[in-house]
Amino acid sequence: MARYTGPSCRLCRREGEKLFLKGKRCFTEKCAIERRAYPPGEHGTGRRRRRQSEYAVQLREKQKVKRIYGLAERQFRSLFRRASRIPGVTGENLLVALESRLDNIVYRLGFAPSRKAARQLIRHRHVRVEGNTVDVPSFSVIPGQEIAMTPAAGEMPVVKEAVEDKKNRDQLSWLGVDYENLTGRMLERPARADIPLAVQEQLIVELYSK
Ligand code: SF4
Repeated sequence: MARYTGPSCRLCRREGEKLFLKGKRCFTEKCAIERRAYPPGEHGTGRRRRRQSEYAVQLREKQKVKRIYGLAERQFRSLFRRASRIPGVTGENLLVALESRLDNIVYRLGFAPSRKAARQLIRHRHVRVEGNTVDVPSFSVIPGQEIAMTPAAGEMPVVKEAVEDKKNRDQLSWLGVDYENLTGRMLERPARADIPLAVQEQLIVELYSK
């Protein structure tokens, strides 16, 4: 299926929780979940929560993670297949692979307000890895590699604002960042406990194992 191009807030409302897809707005009262915390299309009627089947619960969890990272089904499934071939816990391997994507690292470092904005910066060739321009958002970052924003990106209001905003928030322990030079690194692969994501990845493993 093609990538979803509709309103981001609709996805949060569908999942019934904040997925933080729009950067700063997600932390304000303008957030659609704050204003209309019911699924899209219901127009205030029929908001009763139906009892969900086991399959529906697993499917929703997978959709949630897929939407948070902005992946299409095919990309997500192929990442899952790769994660299942690596020794260890498949669900954790999947999250680590998602966290290692270049678009996620640029977002986590604070150089973009959202993963979507990070993807755009990467596609527009504003991100370098070890001195080389990389325009592929799915590029898998290896611990130690230097991620740098181009000087032109450093002048962009969207980047400046994201950096200022991030400076007021905690940085993840497995990332190192230099805001002066707009560079950063993944210091090590994160453990599950170091990934701030309230999801039950085991449900995704169960879904794909059927
Ligand atoms: Fe989701 Fe952010 Fe929209 Fe709120 S503002 S509904 S968290 S994308």
